[in-house]
Amino acid sequence: MKIMYNAATCNHYGACIEEAPEVFSFAEDGSLRIQTYDISRSLEDKVRDACMMCPTQSVQIEDE
Ligand code: SF4
Repeated sequence: MKIMYNAATCNHYGACIEEAPEVFSFAEDGSLRIQTYDISRSLEDKVRDACMMCPTQSVQIEDE
């Protein structure tokens, strides 16, 4: 499972960080940092929730 991220539409609200802090965080400049785009099975559910919670659909799942 992979993450696709669109920085142009991200409003930096941080919903994804609340759902999956292992993967999403804010960098010092306020941009969204994504730890890895290849998601391990143990984090799949959390990352799916994070993508569903994103108000702008800026993070989406690509199933392999
Ligand atoms: S939830 Fe969506 S809009 Fe908010 S910081 Fe994460 S990717 Fe950006």
